[in-house]
Parts: sequence; C-alpha cells; structure tokens
Amino acid sequence: MSDQVELEQGNISIHTENIFPIIKKWLYSEHDIFLRELVSNAVDAIHKLQHVNLVEGLQLSEDYGVDITVDEKAKTLTVKDNGVGMTADEVRKYINQIAFSSAEEFVEKFKDLEDKNQIIGHFGLGFYSAFMVASQVEIRTLSYQEGAAAVHWKCNGSTDYQIGPCDKAERGTEIILHLSNEEEQYLKPSRVREVLKRFCNFLPLPIRLAGDQINDSDPLWCKTPSEVTDEEYQEFYRKLYPLAVEPLFWIHLNIDFPFNLKGIVYFPKLTTEFDLTKSHIKLFCNQVFVSDNCQEMIPEFLVPLQGCLDAPDLPLNVSRSYLQNEPQVRKIREVLAGKVAAKLGEIAKGDAEEYARIWDDIHTFIKYGVLQDEKFYKKTKDHLLFRTTDASQHTTLKDYLERGKEKYADQVYYASDESAQASYLRMFRNQDIEVLLLDAPIDSHLISFLEHQEENLKFLRIDSEATDNLLQGESGPDLVTGEDGKSSNERIADLFKGELDQDGLTIRVDALKDGSVPAVILLDEGMRRFQEMTRMLGKEAKEIGEHTLLVNAACPTIKNLLSLNESGETSAVSSVVHQVYDLARLAQGGFDQASWEAFIGRSQDLLQLASRPGSENTE
Ligand code: ADP
Ligand code: MG
Repeated sequence: MSDQVELEQGNISIHTENIFPIIKKWLYSEHDIFLRELVSNAVDAIHKLQHVNLVEGLQLSEDYGVDITVDEKAKTLTVKDNGVGMTADEVRKYINQIAFSSAEEFVEKFKDLEDKNQIIGHFGLGFYSAFMVASQVEIRTLSYQEGAAAVHWKCNGSTDYQIGPCDKAERGTEIILHLSNEEEQYLKPSRVREVLKRFCNFLPLPIRLAGDQINDSDPLWCKTPSEVTDEEYQEFYRKLYPLAVEPLFWIHLNIDFPFNLKGIVYFPKLTTEFDLTKSHIKLFCNQVFVSDNCQEMIPEFLVPLQGCLDAPDLPLNVSRSYLQNEPQVRKIREVLAGKVAAKLGEIAKGDAEEYARIWDDIHTFIKYGVLQDEKFYKKTKDHLLFRTTDASQHTTLKDYLERGKEKYADQVYYASDESAQASYLRMFRNQDIEVLLLDAPIDSHLISFLEHQEENLKFLRIDSEATDNLLQGESGPDLVTGEDGKSSNERIADLFKGELDQDGLTIRVDALKDGSVPAVILLDEGMRRFQEMTRMLGKEAKEIGEHTLLVNAACPTIKNLLSLNESGETSAVSSVVHQVYDLARLAQGGFDQASWEAFIGRSQDLLQLASRPGSENTE
C-alpha cells in the first residue's frame, strides 16, 4: 500500500480565537522549555519505535538518538529523531487536533491564574510551545510503517496550516523552527547547549548538538542501588553541585509500588549561604527535567535535601496548590520522611561516631521533623542525640536516663545556656550529675513535646530546683538556738527577708553539699516556661519574675552572718545580704540597670573595707 500525500490547505480547528499570541505572552519568562518539549517528543517517538520493534518483531535496530542543529544563515533550529515518524493522517490527528486541544485546554484552565510563571515549569505545552520562539514551524516526517510517504507540514503561527508531500528518505521526524527575530539567541550553540544541559542532561537516549552528545543517558539514579559505590554517589553529587562540599549522607530511592519513584537525595553540609527558603531537589519525569522548585514534593523539615527525584506518574501539569493536596505527592513526602528516618537509624547503629559528627549539622531539621510529624518521631526517637556535660559529648535520652537511674529516675537535667548557668553546672558536676545541653532555639519546643509524648518524663533546667542530689539533707547544720526557739536557718532567712523585700522573691535557707556558693537563684520550671511563653507572645522584656533565693547554710559567708548580726554590725550584714543576692542574680543571667549600679557601688565599698589596714586583725 502506498500512501500518497496531496497538497492541502487547512484550518486548525480550535475555539480560542488565536492561541499563539496567548501562548507567547503567557510563557514569556520560560521560553527555554520549547526545547524540552520537542526533545522529549523525539525521545517518545524513538521509544515508540523500540516498542513496535519488540512487539512486531521488526529489525529496525540502529543508532537511536536525537540531533539538534542550528543554521545561523537560515535562522533555523532543527530537532531530528529516528523514531516512529508520522503518516499524513497522524499529522492531521496528532498535530492539528490533539496537540491543539491540549494547548487550548491549558489556556482555558489557567486563564484566571494570578501567577502564571508558577505553573510553567510544571506544564508541558507540548509541540505548540515551538511557537513561543518560532515564526514558522515545519515538520518533515516519514513513518516507520510500510509504504508510508514522507509528509511535510508547515504553519506560520496562525491557525492556518499546509500539509503536503516531501522528499524525506530516512524514517523519523524533523522539526524545523524558523526562529523569530527576538529569539535569535537560540541560534547560538552555547545557548542551546545550556538549555539542553538543563532539561535534557539525563535523558535516556543520546542527545547530540551538532554531533556532540551532551547528556548522560544512564544517570546514577536509574541504576540498582546495590551496584553503586559511595565514590559514584559522591561523584554524581559533584556533577550536580560542583561547588558544594561533600554531602553528609544520601539515599537512593528505587520504588515501584504503590507508585514509581526513583532518585538520589543528598543531605548537604550546610553553609551560611545555603538558601533554606526554597527546595533544592531537581524533579524529573522519566529523566526529563521538570523543575528545580518543587517544594511540595518534600516535607518542610527536609528542605535542605538536594539531588534528583524522578516521578514518572505524577500529574505535573497542575498548579502548586493542587500538588500540595494530591494524594500521590503526599505519599512521596511520607516516603521521603520515612527513608530519612531509616537512614538515620542505619548510620546511628552502624557508625555512632559518624552519626554524632553529622548530628550538629542536621539536628535542627530532625527536631523540626519530630515536632511536625508524629510518624517521623516514632521512627527517630531512639536516635535523637543530646549534647551532654559528660565526656561522651552526645547521648540518647535512653542512655542518659539509664546512666542516672539511681540519681534521677525519669528526670532530665538540662542547661540552656552554658555561661549563664555556669555556677549551677559546676554544682552538678561536683555531685557527678550529668546535664544535657539544650541550647538550640527549637529545644524548648522539643522539651514540651517529649514530655507530652513520654509519660513520666520530666525536664528540669538546672537552675529550677535544688534537688536532693545537691542538698545535704538531714545532716545539714540547722540547730535551734536562743530563747525564741528559732533555728539558725530561720534566723538567716529573717535576715534576708528583712533586707530583700521585693515582689516575686522567696527566701529559702538550706545546706548545699557544695559549700563554696553562698546562694543560688531557683526558677520554678513550670513558672519559668510560662514566663518564656508570654515573653514570646510579645509581653514585656527580660524580667526575672517569680524566683527563689536559696541561701546556702553550708557556706562560711552565710554562717558568719549571724554572729556579725549579733555583734550589731547591721550595715555590714545589709551589704553582705545584698551582695550575696546580686551575685546569685549575676550567676543566673544578670539584672537591670539600677541593680547594676547598686552592685558596683557596693562592691567598691566592700573592697575598701577589705583593704583597710589591719582589717585582718579584727577577729
Ligand atoms: P504529547 O507529547 O503530550 O502527546 P505534544 O503536543 O508534545 O503532546 O505532541 C502531540 C503528538 O504529536 C504526540 O503525542 C505525538 O503523537 C506527535 N508527535 C510530536 N512530535 C513527534 C515526533 N518527533 N515524532 C512522532 N510523533 C510526534
Ligand atoms: Mg510532548
């Protein structure tokens, strides 16, 4: 059978008056995608031929590939393939009708959309995107079918087309774009190469520009994970991000069920330049680059992830908000979170030292994930690390509690500021009590979350309570003296209460095991958290609020106070009491302007006293 093509003029049947100006205008910012569309059509056509080969047992094997050429003189850019080709009927059906109806659908669907640029990366406008850059488009094609005649189709960007015979001898299709004057950039090989690199870098067939293959047709993510070496993963990363330092870890996804998802994602070593406001994953659809801004595909807390995801079944031609709610996209997010959790477990178990090393880089994101995603918490809870004052540097909560089970059961002692809480840290260290360092902004949220999740677990900041571990207990010196029946501790308390009369201050006298500290400030954990919360809500700034001054009856300075008082040195008593209080406040984090001035003045007076000649002999 021979298929003769008669010359025919026709009118492309579409309902939108003139689609081309609309296509041009709307796709203004992303003209490059025409090349992606034409090259992926060419690849599709070759895949179809390979399929036909297989099914019909034809022997059409040859060197499959797509060739892009530019002719600066003729001002044309040509995309040529050796795929299935088209018969005249197919051109009528697929180019005149179908291609147009999908372009038309696009126009219809998005005519009200505010930000049209948003969707461009996700939408294949198909064959007609050629008219974004060309004033005229020609197709020369010869179908693989026996007896087929070569077809020439031409359209100058109006709804009129021309179809006729031509002399094309090899099977396949050539798309010839006569570039419009404003688009002569695409005559420059370097420019075309750049676009091909971006969109076609990992296409599965050779893509050649003027004879040079420019793509890697067998990207690493298409290989079987067990056959890829660490070196290859790192090399692939360097190819994708030539300027970045080595990634912390990576995950090779190779999922067939319940949906298809392949890819390699890397957790980078973050630098201050790293932009955390956008996603860094390159999204592919059957190795065709789709977008590098696909934040709806990954959980929010994994925003640093880099690498490639290939999601062939995703409806990519839809808007952002649609993607966010699309069940398959949600599944992908879940899969990613699950894989990251599994990977963390694997590293933690396999190489604890390595895990501790990367923890400082990743902990904020992992903690954020824990707060956001309960499933993620369940999977990572045994691998959450905490810095500790113990020499081991990092610990899990479980190990911490296990080590301290005699001393503090389900309680976790923590410091939120090593320098402000230094004196408390010293007391804890002297009593051999391990303290966790929770000083990241997210840690206070994590603390509440963990207490909520784990029954009985209680976090106590080291300045929140004088625990039995720090107090001398029964054996402490607290003798009843004098005829009023008051104990010495009560007398000391009276002295302090008399001198320090202020709202929110409670005085408590007790003997600490550590006799070197005259007093410490204690902030009730619940009360302090409540204050921090109200502060976060924008209430008045740094005030200490309710607090307790724990006066240390075991400290010689305090012990001496009573005799000093009995000998009538009231102004010395007053100075010492205020100084003790101020020092405790200082150790706890400082105080306001007025208290600073009083403290400095009094310190100077005390220095003078101490440096008075003969002051050593006063006893
Ligand atoms: P889509 O690729 O989504 O089907 P396009 O507008 O890109 O939409 O292409 C429309 C149709 O034109 C294709 O489905 C295919 O049948 C046909 N076509 C386009 N380019 C080629 C080509 N290079 N070889 C064979 N057929 C092609
Ligand atoms: Mg297409």
